[in-house]
Amino acid sequence: MNEEKDEASILAILSTEYNLNSNDAKFYLSQYSQFEKATIQYSIAENYNMELTPQMIEATLSNLEQITFEVTDACNLKCKYCGYGDFYENYDARTHKNLPIEHAKKLIEFLSKYWETKENLSEGEVIYVSFYGGEPLLNMPFIKSIVRLFDSYNLKRPIKYTMTTNAILLKKHIGYLASHDFHLLISLDGNKYNNSYRVWPNGKSSYNIVYECMKYIQDNLPAYFKDNIEFNAVLHDKNSVEEIINFFREEFSKTPLIGELNLNGIKKEKKDEFKTLFKDTAQSINESSQKGKLEKIMKDKDPFLNLLTVFIQRNSIMSYPDYNSLFSLKRKIQSLPTGTCIPFSKKIFITVNGKLLPCERIGQEYSLGYVTNQKVELDLDVICKYYNKWLMPISQKCGTCYMRHSCQHCIFNFPNSEKPFCIDYLDKENFKRFLKRAIDYLERNPQSYRHIMKDIIMR
Ligand code: SF4
Ligand code: SF4
Repeated sequence: MNEEKDEASILAILSTEYNLNSNDAKFYLSQYSQFEKATIQYSIAENYNMELTPQMIEATLSNLEQITFEVTDACNLKCKYCGYGDFYENYDARTHKNLPIEHAKKLIEFLSKYWETKENLSEGEVIYVSFYGGEPLLNMPFIKSIVRLFDSYNLKRPIKYTMTTNAILLKKHIGYLASHDFHLLISLDGNKYNNSYRVWPNGKSSYNIVYECMKYIQDNLPAYFKDNIEFNAVLHDKNSVEEIINFFREEFSKTPLIGELNLNGIKKEKKDEFKTLFKDTAQSINESSQKGKLEKIMKDKDPFLNLLTVFIQRNSIMSYPDYNSLFSLKRKIQSLPTGTCIPFSKKIFITVNGKLLPCERIGQEYSLGYVTNQKVELDLDVICKYYNKWLMPISQKCGTCYMRHSCQHCIFNFPNSEKPFCIDYLDKENFKRFLKRAIDYLERNPQSYRHIMKDIIMR
């Protein structure tokens, strides 16, 4: 009876507020009910995979998407907010050390054994070989050796070389990088004032040399500049989303990536000072007089659209992360409690000290293995025990959370990982609200649904 009453009132609202005739109103209501029912039943019924197994890691190593080298821990700049600087304590001491090429070769040799197994379903798919630092351009001999190695290796997969660089030495090496089709991510925070925290060790601004180098490449290698160069600006108290966007559009006809300061691993005694530098992206957009324009430009950065994309991607029975997954249901449904990735499913990261990590965004204390002078130590059973022990305290909660298939929390970034507590837990009632918000959002922004399905999922 109540449900009938609810249905009648919803139909009335659809007719008055959305100007729908009674047939259309009934159609939309039935669509919504089906969607809600299917999604909720799917979420409850599906067998939630709680445990990491060695086979899951073997599959990710066999189909590795990215290998990232910490080429050197040395840097020619001393940026105020650097993730390996004074604010943080979750990294190995910086000792001007280079990653020994022998260690890198040992790792590639170790991985190639996985690439030669029948678990490798990635023939023809791009593998990213990435160089990270410190400042990678301080160790060009290492980079050239790795490129020679991969170029001579019959991987049956196209290789894309990528690098994150502060661009101080870029002019000198751009010929080599362009000839090997490197994709570059340049760190620059906007105009000279916006870029105030990116300084030399003596505190002087690094802006002019980077700006001039970018103009040089833009003028002399325009096609390469257009296709292969991206900018990454860090948001802080000396810039804003508006200033950053306007600067890069006017100077370089580009829209940069905008990142916030890393909130993990901050020293206790530095927290107050850190707070004065920190700026939130959404708040910066809200404070702008050009809010509407920025929201349009930054649509891919809208946190709700991002969540919705992951939600649709993970819950749609017709969406697959890659072509091979079409043929392997096993690859599609594997997931761990929280949004923590299966180790090495995104990448493998090797530090100058030979530590092996699932990415560079987590503290270097979470090493999962080592490359030593003798061998590669990567014990899959030990990794599984380590992950399962960490995930166990929160897995019960995640098991009943309606956002678990779209969760983006990484266990390594939980504030207190010994006793993880999640403020984003979603029960059934709140999940219904989320669904309603999702449908409202897509109705108001029909182009977003097209964008998710065509540009993001089908990419
Ligand atoms: S942040 Fe966590 S979930 Fe994301 S890639 Fe790194 S280890 Fe995986
Ligand atoms: S939102 Fe929180 S409770 Fe829900 S799955 Fe993610 S980590 Fe678990």
